[in-house]
Amino acid sequence: MINSFLSVRSNLFSYVPNVTLACKRYIQTIKVGIIGSGPAGFYTAQALLKDSRVLIDIYEKYPVPFGLIRFGVAPDHQSVKNVINSFTNTALQDRVSFYGNINIGQDVTLNQLLKSYNAVVLCYGATEDRKLNIEGEDLINVLPARRFVGWYNGIPQDSDLNPFLQTEDVVIIGHGNVALDCARILLSPVDETLKSTDITNHALTALRESKVKRVYLVGRRGPLQVSFTIKELRELTKLPGCDTIVFPEDFKNITAETINELPRPRKRLTELLLSLANEKNLNNNHKRCVLMFCRSPLQIVGDKHGKVSSVNLGVNRLIQQEDGVKTELTDEKEILKCGLFLRSIGYRAVSIDPSIPLNDKTGVISNTNGKVHGFDFGLYCSGWAATGATGVIIGTMNASFEIAEHILKDFGQNEPLLVEKPGATEIIPHLKSKGVKVVTFNDWQRIDELEKNLGSQLGKPREKLVNQKDMIKAVDEEKD
Ligand code: FAD
Ligand code: NAP
Repeated sequence: MINSFLSVRSNLFSYVPNVTLACKRYIQTIKVGIIGSGPAGFYTAQALLKDSRVLIDIYEKYPVPFGLIRFGVAPDHQSVKNVINSFTNTALQDRVSFYGNINIGQDVTLNQLLKSYNAVVLCYGATEDRKLNIEGEDLINVLPARRFVGWYNGIPQDSDLNPFLQTEDVVIIGHGNVALDCARILLSPVDETLKSTDITNHALTALRESKVKRVYLVGRRGPLQVSFTIKELRELTKLPGCDTIVFPEDFKNITAETINELPRPRKRLTELLLSLANEKNLNNNHKRCVLMFCRSPLQIVGDKHGKVSSVNLGVNRLIQQEDGVKTELTDEKEILKCGLFLRSIGYRAVSIDPSIPLNDKTGVISNTNGKVHGFDFGLYCSGWAATGATGVIIGTMNASFEIAEHILKDFGQNEPLLVEKPGATEIIPHLKSKGVKVVTFNDWQRIDELEKNLGSQLGKPREKLVNQKDMIKAVDEEKD
């Protein structure tokens, strides 16, 4: 570890000026390599372009751009995906190049990038999920929500996930918006709400045949601590043919006064939850989304075939501590039967190179204002890789703009250290010589057109290609 730190650092210092370089104060171009083409990658690029000397190369692991806009945002939230119009405008600028199908850390090392660029910005998101670390987590039909999302949204490695939907009961652990997205997709009437979205065809077919009737959303804390937001909860309550159930006893320790004193967004959210708890008109023919509070999964139980059959829950009491509301297990236990179990307790970043310092506990790259610790100048991070997997696109945008400001300031302060760098002119031939198929933004636009054409035949905005080979084939066929 220390060795690789040193090797990367010594490369950074390769642009510390000798006497002749010190004269090169006003370099013509500042080459920036951005890793990842999600919101952080594009928003950071947009803000860096304010310096007219900056040239940007965006490297993306998949042949297709836009990160979680394509692969995370729910298919029934099409309007959210409009941000790709602004990203496309950025990608089409002369000073920006997109190189897809390149897995940084595997196809090319960080060290090589640091040698070829004045600065590298790690915008590679948070691509792993958090684990519960309880018995039974490896049973069949116990899945991370991340992969379930990937399945309905067409992430290549999740497209064959085939989640078990021939069960009436699904348990989802977590009270965040991802959990609500998954519940909504599972409980939506397919032909009314999903058919005309860009949901993958394999998901549409499986959801049409689904037997799921009840989804239990299990949170370890109480109604005042949920992470999901009111818009998403309201959407769930409005699903045709589905009732959202909250139990009145979960409000027994929450007074009207407490609710009144909450900050406005939390107050409105709590009032909505309370109104659901007071709802008496439940329809026995409807599907159900049941919100359960103060419950922690203790053990996931399987049948003789190794498939999940139930989960043992511990009932928690809440304890107010200086740093927030914590949980303590009581002696009370419950069993909840289920044929599918989704863990939706957040995402974490990975380290794509041993020299990148990652806080193991938080799953975030160690950084200050985006500057990666252990690197004096030249390596930055932005987006979920830098902040942790929290916040919506607009939050990622603001944080990325701020980090870009810091980077530009660093360029200003380190001007004498900047020397001309080769950027992609060195990296791309190297990748091609290794047989890596590089996908340009033009190539992506061909895939985009093909997907839109396929979609229009089905009344959808697009039909996504769901494996990398088909994406590459689409590019190659168009070129022939
Ligand atoms: P990402 O969007 O994850 O982008 C990271 C990019 O880096 C990806 O393209 C990835 O493929 C690439 N990458 C990873 N590793 C490498 C590598 N080694 N080499 C090259 N490239 C790499 N926010 C909203 O405002 N509205 C919503 O409706 C909404 N829905 C969401 C639904 C889900 C399921 C999730 C998880 C999040 C949702 N969000 C939503 C939040 C929003 O998606 C994030 O704020 C935002 O995507 C974070 O941007 P990012 O660029 O940091 O990460
Ligand atoms: P999240 O909002 O952080 O929610 C994670 C949930 O998991 C919380 O309820 C948390 O409870 C719980 N949890 C964590 N560790 C746990 C454990 N060990 N045991 C039991 N429960 C545990 O994460 P997310 O849902 O993955 O969403 C990530 C971000 O994307 C969020 O900011 C979200 O708003 C955003 N997003 C937005 C949209 C949208 O705008 N429509 C859609 C999807 C995602 P505690 O609070 O007790 O820790």
